[in-house]
Amino acid sequence: MAKIEMKTPLVEMDGDEMTRILWALIKEKLLLPYVDLKTEYYDLGLKHRDETDDQVTVDSAEATKRLGVAVKCATITPNADRVKEYDLKEMWKSPNGTIRAILDGTVFRTPVTVAGIEPCVKNWEKPITLARHAYGDVYKNVEMAVPGPGKAELVYTDAQGNETRKLIQEFRGAGVVQGVHNLDASIESFARACFQFALDEKKELWFGTKDTISKTYDARFREIFDRVYEADYKAKFEAAGITYFYTLIDDAVARIMKSRGGMIWACKNYDGDVMSDMVSSAFGSLAMMTSVLVSPAGVYEYEAAHGTVQRHYYKHLKGEETSTNPVATIFAWTGALRKRGELDGLAELQAFADRLERATLETIESGVMTKDLALITTLPVERVTVKNTEAFIDAIAERL
Ligand code: NAP
Ligand code: MG
Repeated sequence: MAKIEMKTPLVEMDGDEMTRILWALIKEKLLLPYVDLKTEYYDLGLKHRDETDDQVTVDSAEATKRLGVAVKCATITPNADRVKEYDLKEMWKSPNGTIRAILDGTVFRTPVTVAGIEPCVKNWEKPITLARHAYGDVYKNVEMAVPGPGKAELVYTDAQGNETRKLIQEFRGAGVVQGVHNLDASIESFARACFQFALDEKKELWFGTKDTISKTYDARFREIFDRVYEADYKAKFEAAGITYFYTLIDDAVARIMKSRGGMIWACKNYDGDVMSDMVSSAFGSLAMMTSVLVSPAGVYEYEAAHGTVQRHYYKHLKGEETSTNPVATIFAWTGALRKRGELDGLAELQAFADRLERATLETIESGVMTKDLALITTLPVERVTVKNTEAFIDAIAERL
């Protein structure tokens, strides 16, 4: 059988620990036999990041700008323990943070849904994609303990030295105060990424803030979304038969719970932090959550939402059997291959991505799964077979 052709290479970002093991197995058993895989390979494994003074991470992000589509394996974000474990020159920054800063993107997280792994919210029939704004607000706050009576003010000094002041509070006793900010440019690129992704996916876009209370700050988010929508997306949304829906954040939360799912839900930074954990745990498992970084320039980086599954890796190193779920990592590859196929006009490559996803889901639906899913499946126990890491990938390969 002739292999499926590719034109432009994918940027391949290899990673760490158990997901690095999955990475090699997925390539060997599910991709290389069928696809004439073209990638530009960057080893983001911690050892190599250290050897290159983290230049490899920057290079991989630059390559993504040039080539347009990347697929990334989970990577270790070093902490003090890791510095010792890997004898690092420095506590390198989070690769995802570095890549996001270079691509200026928004991260969209979508659960992979499959019969037998049911969301806790029983009316959620379709996956909910969560888009979290990743700049500013409380994550870049400046805060202060107020020791006792006194006045707290907001002061803005412009380039000419003119001050604008606003009283925050006349304190009669001790308390706390914090300043937060955001940038029009960042909000606008968040808005563009959301509209673009909704169009790509042909899904409704929801957005909510607290602009009834925060009449300047949150209202700015709403205004920028409205402006970008009217100017550049309204006609395209209408042509695609999708809608943009703005409501208050509390109304959005209430409606999401009663909805059938299927929408992209754009959230401010804090709302997205909190709500993405709610949505992902309600859909079942972190191992079934995919993630894609979309830049306003139309560049895509696909990955699994989970980490390197360190605990399983240490078992693996001791020669013990593991049952690590590869689904999110497989879907990172299929997402990237499908997007590459779309951009290069390669129908066969897109169809292959569809087939590999179907083979993966049908394997689980047939009762063959990893341990994490066996613990939560609604399939009757007698129909469930738990496979180890490699045997599960073999089962998908056989079905494929
Ligand atoms: P993790 O890798 O997400 O794993 C946490 C736990 O979740 C695992 O111990 C396992 O539970 C379960 N789990 C996650 N993915 C699974 C899978 N595919 N199959 C089965 N079970 C799965 O988080 P972590 O152990 O806290 O972090 C490990 C490393 O990952 C850290 O160094 C962190 O910096 C990094 N990290 C990277 C990314 C990224 O690259 N995007 C994201 C998050 C974390 P059981 O042990 O109960 O089986
Ligand atoms: Mg969080």
